[in-house]
Amino acid sequence: MIPIHETFYSWQGEGVHFGRPAYFIRTWGCPVKCKWCDSAGTWHPDYAPDNIEKIPEEDLVKSAKATHCDFVVITGGEPTIFDLNELTSQLEKENISRHLETSGGFEIKGDFQWITVSPKREKLPLDNNLIIASELKIIVDGEEALEEWGKYLKPYELKIPIWLNIEWSLRDNKKIKEKITKFVKEHGFPYRVGYQFHKLFQADEMDTNSKPNVPLGGNLDLGY
Ligand code: SF4
Repeated sequence: MIPIHETFYSWQGEGVHFGRPAYFIRTWGCPVKCKWCDSAGTWHPDYAPDNIEKIPEEDLVKSAKATHCDFVVITGGEPTIFDLNELTSQLEKENISRHLETSGGFEIKGDFQWITVSPKREKLPLDNNLIIASELKIIVDGEEALEEWGKYLKPYELKIPIWLNIEWSLRDNKKIKEKITKFVKEHGFPYRVGYQFHKLFQADEMDTNSKPNVPLGGNLDLGY
C-alpha cells in the first residue's frame, strides 16, 4: 500500500519522452520542501487533505493497465521515500514500462527503465542516483541558477540530456529565458532547453481524476 495523492492518464509534457501517453501515479509526501514547489498539494500543511488514501499496488497496476498507456510515471511529492519494489515488480509482470521522477536525494527502491532526476538544492541528489539517471531536469529559478548548477554538475561529466526548465512562475521572465538560450548556445550537449508543455495545454486537468495544481509560486498577477 502506498499513500497516493492522485492518479491520472495524460501525456508526458517534459524531457526525452515528451508527447507520449503516460499514466501518472503521484505519491503523497515530500520532505524536500522547495519554496516554489509546483505540487504543494502533496506535502504542504496548508494543502494536506483530511484523508490520504493508501492504495494497494495491485489496484494501481490494474488502473494503469486499463489505460493502455505507453508507460507509467511514478512521481510525487517524492516517490523514493517509499519502497517501490512491489509496485514496479507488479508493473513489470504486466509488461508496463516504468519511469521515475525524483529529486534523487534518497535511495531508489524499485526497478525502473527510465529515471528523471531533478536536483534540488534543499536536498542534493545522491551520487549514485546521478550516475544511474537517464536524464536530468534542472529548474532554473533565478538568474544565478545556471552558473550554480553548471558548476555543481561539472565534475560528474554526465553524458545524458540535462534539461534546463524555467521555473513555471518565471515563465514570462525575458531575462532568464535569454540566459537559458545563451547557456545552451554556448555549451551545447548535454544541455537542452526544457519546458513544461503539459502546463501550457492544461493536459493533466483533462482527466477529471487529476487534482488541481497547487503551486507555491506562480501568481503572475502578484509578480512571482
Ligand atoms: S518540487 Fe518536488 S522535490 Fe521540491 S518540494 Fe515539490 S515535490 Fe518536493
